[in-house]
Amino acid sequence: MNSKNHNHGTPWPFIVLFYVLASSASVLGFIYYKSIEKNLLADTIDQLSAIADLKVRQIIQWRDERLADGIFLRGNTPHVRQFSGFIQDPGNKSLEADLLRSLRSYTDNYDYRNAVLVDRYQTVRLFYPDQDTIIGDYLRELLSGVIEKGEVVLTDIHHSGKVSFVHLDLMVPLKGPGVNDSTVFAALVLRIDPGKILYPILQSWPVVSRTAEALLIHVEGEEIVYLNKLRHTDDAELALRKPLTQQNLSAAMAVQGIMETTDAIDYRGVPVLATMKKVPGTTWFLIAKIDREEAYDQLYERRGQVILITVLFILMSGFCLAFLWRRQRIRYFKDKYESERERMALVKHFDYILKNANDIILLVDKDFIIVEANDKACETYQFARQELIGKNANQLRSQFTGRIGNDYQILGDTGHLTYETVHRRKDGTEFPIEISARKVDIEGVPYYQSIGRDITERKQADEILRESEERFRKIFEESPFSMAMTGKDMGMIKVNSAFCNMIGYSEDELMGLTFRNFTHPDHINHDDVSLLRLVANDIPVYHTKKRYIRKDGSVIWGSATINLIRNNKGEFQFALAMVEDITARRKAETELIAAKEKAEESDRLKTAFLHNVSHEIRTPMNAILGFSSLLNETGIAEEERKQFVDVIFQSGNQLLSIINDIVDLASIESGQVKINIREIVLNQELRKLSEQFAYKQKPLNITLSLETPLPDKAVHVMTDGTKLIQILSNLINNAFKFTKKGRITFGYSQKENCLEFFVRDTGVGIAPEHQKKVFDRFYQVDSAVSRHYSGTGLGLSICKAYVELLGGRIWLTSQPGEGSMFCFTIPGKKKGG
Ligand code: ADP
Repeated sequence: MNSKNHNHGTPWPFIVLFYVLASSASVLGFIYYKSIEKNLLADTIDQLSAIADLKVRQIIQWRDERLADGIFLRGNTPHVRQFSGFIQDPGNKSLEADLLRSLRSYTDNYDYRNAVLVDRYQTVRLFYPDQDTIIGDYLRELLSGVIEKGEVVLTDIHHSGKVSFVHLDLMVPLKGPGVNDSTVFAALVLRIDPGKILYPILQSWPVVSRTAEALLIHVEGEEIVYLNKLRHTDDAELALRKPLTQQNLSAAMAVQGIMETTDAIDYRGVPVLATMKKVPGTTWFLIAKIDREEAYDQLYERRGQVILITVLFILMSGFCLAFLWRRQRIRYFKDKYESERERMALVKHFDYILKNANDIILLVDKDFIIVEANDKACETYQFARQELIGKNANQLRSQFTGRIGNDYQILGDTGHLTYETVHRRKDGTEFPIEISARKVDIEGVPYYQSIGRDITERKQADEILRESEERFRKIFEESPFSMAMTGKDMGMIKVNSAFCNMIGYSEDELMGLTFRNFTHPDHINHDDVSLLRLVANDIPVYHTKKRYIRKDGSVIWGSATINLIRNNKGEFQFALAMVEDITARRKAETELIAAKEKAEESDRLKTAFLHNVSHEIRTPMNAILGFSSLLNETGIAEEERKQFVDVIFQSGNQLLSIINDIVDLASIESGQVKINIREIVLNQELRKLSEQFAYKQKPLNITLSLETPLPDKAVHVMTDGTKLIQILSNLINNAFKFTKKGRITFGYSQKENCLEFFVRDTGVGIAPEHQKKVFDRFYQVDSAVSRHYSGTGLGLSICKAYVELLGGRIWLTSQPGEGSMFCFTIPGKKKGG
């Protein structure tokens, strides 16, 4: 309300602004005027002073010239002699005529008006012109002095009753013509009319002025006498007199010695600016003055201008401010009109909304009494409008919900509140409602405006949605399949417990990870590309089989199906991945393949074995059969028969060894081989073995040597000695078989928990690719067809089986062409030592 008054009441800001502007303009105008006044006055004073100085100088100059005239005449001896002649001979008419011509030349050429020759007895003897020739008392008095002293004198301006004009006299004493004659015999009086030169000097003024003048005064007794003609009064010359005591009179000030430019009054009593000067060598004072009014004329003119400008400025600013104020008022009323119009439109609009709104709109007072309700409210609650108005809003609430109070307490703090509750219709049926309540202030009185919406349908839809979500959640959670929801970046959003179990991370741990974190690096690129294709709708679904790295580092195989879930608009919501752990299946498949390959290999080996065996058996059998039939023949020498029997014996042994091998292998495979642990003296057993093979060395050009690093006593070993020797003899047999020349060394060395045996040869060696396989049954490095060496491919596999039965392991190191070393351990504890 206050602000309204302020807006269209007295326009104080404008008035204050106007006052400030007007005062500033007045002050500035005044200051400006004062500065002009000061400058003008200073100019006038300077001018007056300069003019007064000039006049004084001119007067002095004029006087000096007059005196110089007198001195010149006094010293002009021929002339003086003429005058002397005339005084002595007054009847000399020609001389008189000469002298008169001389006198006439003075008056004609200078400012002398009369020339009079007076003898020393003050008698006028000659004159020109013939008027005003009288010598008055004033002059007579001075003349006697001049005649006496012989000095040239210029009198003051005076008036003599017998002379018709005011004048000055130049008195020139004339001395006798002799050189030593200093007697003044006469005086020449040249009467000067000041009106001719002196007054014009005073009257001339170098600039145009209405009132300016210069005047000369001197003092006579107690009076000031004005010597010259004055501008503003007639007949003043020697006639105008003023008392010395007259206050502020410029002449009186001059007499008092005030030689400056100052305010004063003149002989008319008019205020003037006057400069007073003393004229040196005279009793005169010169006063140069100008009427104050004239001096200030220009100032008054400027003052008028300043006042005019100031007033104009004030009027202008007043006008502008008034204009601005008017505009502001117009705008104010226009705004008011506009806002009023908008308000009316809004009111109409709101009335319309209120009436036709699809929501229940109630206005309740602070005690929750309904003061306004719209049509929808009446329709929903089944009350007539007048029934609703005046009712307490609490009566609309279900009896099972509390009273409004608590909710609206919060509303009091925040100003608005949205909540759901249950309301009741007139017929007692209830319905869920969402209420958005707001505090409103109408004309300073607080009300609550509540907008309510029947949310029965929404609630039902929510319930259906909730159930469907719950179903989905259950399916997701309880699915035996591993399931995960991810974002576009493959970041985990939700996982089920099957997924956690499969991948080994907890649900919380997974939330910070993406699929990349546990996908085997080999598959990441393919995953990325496929997901992009999926998002771009290039493929409908993405299937893949890939490896996952579990939290513990183990690798599993999973078969994953990834679908994108989109909203109604087809926008990406999340990716749903279902993963099946196929590690076991993969393993089974691999094993199956391996088994198949193995079966095929063993089949191949068995075929080779049969070839071998038939060959290995047939060779000694042929020998036995062949040599046995030879034995039957007659006439065989004893020597030959012995040889034949040897061959048969060796072939029998060979056959036996093959059969032994086959039997051993059969026993091993059927698990019938038993271990018979007893104590053996290792070194002894090895020495025996070495001796058994000794016979082979010579024919083959091979050295066999044994290394027993421990003393006999120290190696009483608990083991199956037969098996140990069998292993070693197999290995040594092989060494002889595959060594052309060189050395075969066998023995053992003591390791921490076991004994490590070795058989080293300098034979053909075994290529790396065969080194693992030679321990397989029936495996031989060279093929059965092109074989150079006899054998069945069983020896090493039997060795391996025995070593493992004894609790050790067997391996080999070999360089093809340089030899092989077979090693094996037995854990047997050595006894004694
Ligand atoms: P075989 O009765 O054929 O000798 P083994 O099982 O004893 O059967 O040996 C398998 C194969 O291992 C042999 O055929 C041979 O190719 C290779 N082999 C075994 N010992 C040696 C060795 N000391 N030097 C080179 N090759 C060897």
